Amino acid sequence: MELQFLGGASEVGSLGLVARDQGRTLLFDYGITPSDPPTYPRPLPSTVDAAFISHAHLDHMGMSPVLCRLPKTRIVATPVTGAVTELLARDNLKVARLEGYLAPYTGEEIRALNDRFQSIDKRGSYRHHGIDVSLHPAGHIPGATMFLYHGSKDLLFSGDVLRIPTHLVPPAEPPECDVLVLESTYAGREHEDRTEVERRFRAKVKETVERGGQAIIPAFAVGRAQEVLLALQSTGLDIWLDGMAKKVNSIYQHHLEYLVDGRKFRQALDSVHTVMTSEERRHAAREAEVIITTGGMLDGGPVLAYIAEHRQDSKSSILITGFQVDGSNGRQLLDRGTITVDGVTLRPECEVAKFDFSAHAGHSDLVRTVRESRAKTVVLMHGDERSKLAEALQDEVEVLVPENGHRFEV
Ligand SMILES: [Zn+2]
Repeated sequence: MELQFLGGASEVGSLGLVARDQGRTLLFDYGITPSDPPTYPRPLPSTVDAAFISHAHLDHMGMSPVLCRLPKTRIVATPVTGAVTELLARDNLKVARLEGYLAPYTGEEIRALNDRFQSIDKRGSYRHHGIDVSLHPAGHIPGATMFLYHGSKDLLFSGDVLRIPTHLVPPAEPPECDVLVLESTYAGREHEDRTEVERRFRAKVKETVERGGQAIIPAFAVGRAQEVLLALQSTGLDIWLDGMAKKVNSIYQHHLEYLVDGRKFRQALDSVHTVMTSEERRHAAREAEVIITTGGMLDGGPVLAYIAEHRQDSKSSILITGFQVDGSNGRQLLDRGTITVDGVTLRPECEVAKFDFSAHAGHSDLVRTVRESRAKTVVLMHGDERSKLAEALQDEVEVLVPENGHRFEV
């Protein structure tokens, strides 16, 4: 079997893996890097017999509308991933137009996705024209799946994996395989214990509210906003939700079987106030005790309106819940205490704190995943520190650390 990364081998972004086996060409994920300007993976091969999208994050699915240019390529994903992919692709096109980037695809191509998606439920199988691929839960976010391709060898494509249970999804269940293509985002790094993170997080939110401030919680729309909301459910505080997470919530509500506890999720949505109008946003900015909103890296979205309202208020806090890429406002806030909006640099007087709600497996859980898979060959991808994981594994299995574009056999 021949493999080739179109992108995302040595970086967290723009992932795309082509597998050629027994006369067929398969594609796993096709994402973008939502940087400024965005970057894209290499072009698609001229034919793809079937494409598999592991989950609805831009670095895994952001380029999937381009697949509609190929004749007849089916795009296999869980129903949740399919629905959120269309939402994110439309939003990505809007951002490209607003920021003046050349859009990588058209609205027409996004609409065409609907006819191309082949929805397969979690733990289901895709069998078509001799291609046999089974789906296995990946943890990470609702709908996220690993794909096990049964070809000349059994190849497992991990997508992004999480091995601990969260409020939103149960942990990943990696099956055994011959070749494991594994994400390496947290190679060489461990996470703080999640229970402890949540305890500190809830305490900081309560402390902010008790001193008369507003807890402003920037969160990514897909996965993180919902996880944070569930983590705060027991506090009984006055929580408001704003931004694209609202649309993602309504998709999740139609697919409750992908959540670890659908009833608890429904209750959380019933107890939260949702900002629907600019009037409500003005009200929430003044009155809410807690606001959960996009953008998760403070580079745009309603979060900036909440920060503008409270930036001179030292009783309020900005509680970062996600990874902040270099060059983002969130990174700048953590490193230098400032954000830049419309070319103007501001220094909010709010307290700033960061909490590790990562949905990626840490280093030891990645090692454990390799051991449990019993793979003879491990291909490390989707990480900028892959060598640290390679070092930990090299005495046990064959470890490959390929570069983008390079064709190699497994
Ligand atoms: Zn992801």
